[in-house]
Amino acid sequence: MVMAKSKVKIQKSKIKKGDKVKIMLGKDRGKEGTVEYVLAKKNKLFVGGVNLYKRHVRKLKDIEGGIINIPKPMNVSNVALICPTCQKSTRIGLKVMGDAKVRMCKKCGKEIDKGKA
Ligand SMILES: [Zn+2]
Repeated sequence: MVMAKSKVKIQKSKIKKGDKVKIMLGKDRGKEGTVEYVLAKKNKLFVGGVNLYKRHVRKLKDIEGGIINIPKPMNVSNVALICPTCQKSTRIGLKVMGDAKVRMCKKCGKEIDKGKA
C-alpha cells in the first residue's frame, strides 16, 4: 500500500515587502502602512509604524532605560493591500502573463507591480 504523502500547503503570501497595506483587524484597524518585512512561512508580516507594543526597558550599561516601541508581526490575513492605481484596499488577483504571474487589483483590474522598480 502506498502511503499518501501528506501535503502541507503553504499559502504563498501575495503581499510583498514595500506594499502599502491597510490594517483590517486588531488594535490598529484602519491604519495604513508599508510592509517592511514578510515572514512567508508563518504568513505574517511587519508593517512600518503599526502594531507597536510599548515595553519598559531597564537601564543597561550603555542603553537608556525607558519605554520603547517594539513592532510585532501580524497575520497576513489581517491586512489588505492598497492598490497603487485606485488607492482602495483590495483583494489581489493573479494574472498569468507568459511565464510570469502578475498581481492585479480586483477592483480596478490594473496590475499592481506595474511601474514599481
Ligand atoms: Zn485598483
